[in-house]
Amino acid sequence: MSLSRFNALQAVENRVEPFPMDFNDTPAENIASYFGINVFDDAKMKKYVAEKAYLSVKAAIQSGQKLSRDVADEVALGMKKWAEEKGCTHFAHWFQPLTGKTAEKHDSFFTLTHDGRVIEEFTGGALVQQEPDGSSFPSGGMRSTFEARGYTVWDPSSPAFIMEVGDGMTLCIPTIFVTYGGEAQDYKLPLLRSLAFLDKAAVTVAKMFDEKVAKVTATLGWEQEYFLIDDALFNARPDLAMTGRTLLGHAAAKNQQLEDHYFGSIPERVYAYMRDLETESHKLGIPVRTRHNEVAPAQYEVAPIFEEINVAVDHNQLLMDVMERVARRHKLRVLFHEKPFAGINGSGKHNNWSMGTNTGVNLLSPGKEPAKNLRFLTFFVNTIAAVHKYADILRASIAHAGNDHRLGANEAPPAIISVFIGEAMTLLLDQIAKGKNTDGQEVKRALDLISKLPNLELDNTDRNRTSPFAFTGNKFEIRAVGSSQNCAGPMAVMNAMMGLQLVEFKGEVDKLLAKGAKQDEAILTVLKGYIRKSKSICFEGNNYSDEWKEEAKARGLNNFATTPEALDVLGSKMALELYSKSGVMNKVELEAYHNVQLHSYCTKINIEARSLEEIIHSMVMPAAIRYQTELADNIASLREIDMDDAIGYQKDTLKRVTRNVNAIREALEKLHKGFEKAHHCDDIRDEADILCHKVRPQMDAIREAADDLEAVVDDQYWPLVKYREMLFMR
Ligand code: ADP
Ligand code: MG
Repeated sequence: MSLSRFNALQAVENRVEPFPMDFNDTPAENIASYFGINVFDDAKMKKYVAEKAYLSVKAAIQSGQKLSRDVADEVALGMKKWAEEKGCTHFAHWFQPLTGKTAEKHDSFFTLTHDGRVIEEFTGGALVQQEPDGSSFPSGGMRSTFEARGYTVWDPSSPAFIMEVGDGMTLCIPTIFVTYGGEAQDYKLPLLRSLAFLDKAAVTVAKMFDEKVAKVTATLGWEQEYFLIDDALFNARPDLAMTGRTLLGHAAAKNQQLEDHYFGSIPERVYAYMRDLETESHKLGIPVRTRHNEVAPAQYEVAPIFEEINVAVDHNQLLMDVMERVARRHKLRVLFHEKPFAGINGSGKHNNWSMGTNTGVNLLSPGKEPAKNLRFLTFFVNTIAAVHKYADILRASIAHAGNDHRLGANEAPPAIISVFIGEAMTLLLDQIAKGKNTDGQEVKRALDLISKLPNLELDNTDRNRTSPFAFTGNKFEIRAVGSSQNCAGPMAVMNAMMGLQLVEFKGEVDKLLAKGAKQDEAILTVLKGYIRKSKSICFEGNNYSDEWKEEAKARGLNNFATTPEALDVLGSKMALELYSKSGVMNKVELEAYHNVQLHSYCTKINIEARSLEEIIHSMVMPAAIRYQTELADNIASLREIDMDDAIGYQKDTLKRVTRNVNAIREALEKLHKGFEKAHHCDDIRDEADILCHKVRPQMDAIREAADDLEAVVDDQYWPLVKYREMLFMR
């Protein structure tokens, strides 16, 4: 009998080199010549849609107003013409349900008229709204109460694009996904609402410094980390295939301790993959720019040039899809899980967040003119104040089963949210907060201080890599976001809390102005108060240390280590206030969202536990028992010929194998008890608690014993591809 492990290893050995570099005849040079060729962008809309309709769409995007049916018809016609010229036969509404992945339902342009003629058609109605059978997407109970169907509705603020899969070409239309009553059932609609809310709040504040500001756009530059492993090895690991992570596996003797992978030269095979991926991304208008190795072996990162958040989120979701497809062509698999391998770094998705104005100003950049620096200080301090107030909700927005393995683990930010701003800004804020008065003299002093700041973007060499939320010169970098996650969740929270914070700020400043204060003095007075109040959220030290956990506790900062705990805040008054005041989610939507997240957590742990059990019974135990038998037979035969002094090692090993086999049996029993209890829970929160605190620890116990078995059982018997093989085979 041949074990799947050895077949897989053989398959990797047999891979032909050199690996294909270019699957498409798109030129490798001169990205500009093919960038965005598969996107129905502004230029193409202008070309394919009559001017009046084109202008109506632009206006509708600006104002967020509904399009007339006539305009929709015209846009649909233009889109179809373009798409057909490119070879599309189908179109799809592309959306982002709460599963975290993207979804799409394909329809063909082809249809039959009432008299049986074949025509190709794409109407404004089909562009604007579709009704996929939504009943199998998570709704948190929202739909079942009154209406089972879900609707997808066109989001004209993100351009349509063509997805190439093999020879097939599909016109994809970015959409929101809602119930019949218009409640959000996806990540996109809350995000769009948050962007509109922040825009309004930030414009009012930005106008205090420059009357010409009419629009504030929140920006996102994500950094996507991922692992790549050979397709054959992936398929020989049922845990990876089922859960996206290894549920067991003895650590390789060498992992990342030599730090020789980080920024090391990219293996040729991976390089071919990255090149191909970049070409595909560029065709889709995804502005990916950097590629490099990450810290762990077989770990990499890809990052784009930042964009407006809605488009950046769509691009990230699309990229993840493209990454998987391109990987298959290269006989590779992408792992997006936050912790595919124990004992080495996990993967995150840093979210670089800022705000820009229609006048071309980055509101989180100090700028060169000292007089303008009060504006920077305003947005900077308000961001800190917002995080101080709503840290727990930000934490909830990144809570999911995968991220539990990462937050607080190897080289990952802890579950405690704090803000790092760097030495220069810390000093500056301290000095500003100290000043007693807030008169003109004091304003001048504050502006002087800011104008003497070193260039923060260049001065970031010593930036703190351990912080979950760091100021990096001209943007904040939210590092606790998980690699598999839709950025829209945390981004919507960022926008909403910043929006609310700015509304409050404006209110306080206005009050002082009404009392006759000068504008600069009023602003500084309010900011000073915020600096003092939010001091406890600022931390410059090592976030990985145990001392920080102690100190954070003393400061009153929460440390929600697990997903169920972290999600509890969504049921709080504070969350309801944040979400409903900003209009991002109403009460029903928030409850449904909370519910979906809890369900998703339970489902994931369930799948993991069941997969583990199966692997243990069908792969690990048979190998262990076989080796156990061999050892026992060997001992017995040696004894028979009076060779008792030759059985020492065998006896020790037999004991070790037996100890582990028994430990697994015991843990499996407890795991079952946990399962029983969990399945009898009426309340999803109780179920999550049992899975988290009763089932997961048993999975860890099983793993510990199984990994020790892997270390001693005859390599020839071991059916699972080993860590060293997954991480170091190229
Ligand atoms: P790092 O050292 O973390 O890789 P970079 O300066 O390369 O830092 O930037 C990382 C990401 O931040 C990139 O995706 C970049 O586009 C993004 N970024 C830069 N400026 C902004 C901004 N104003 N708003 C949002 N993201 C930004
Ligand atoms: Mg970064």
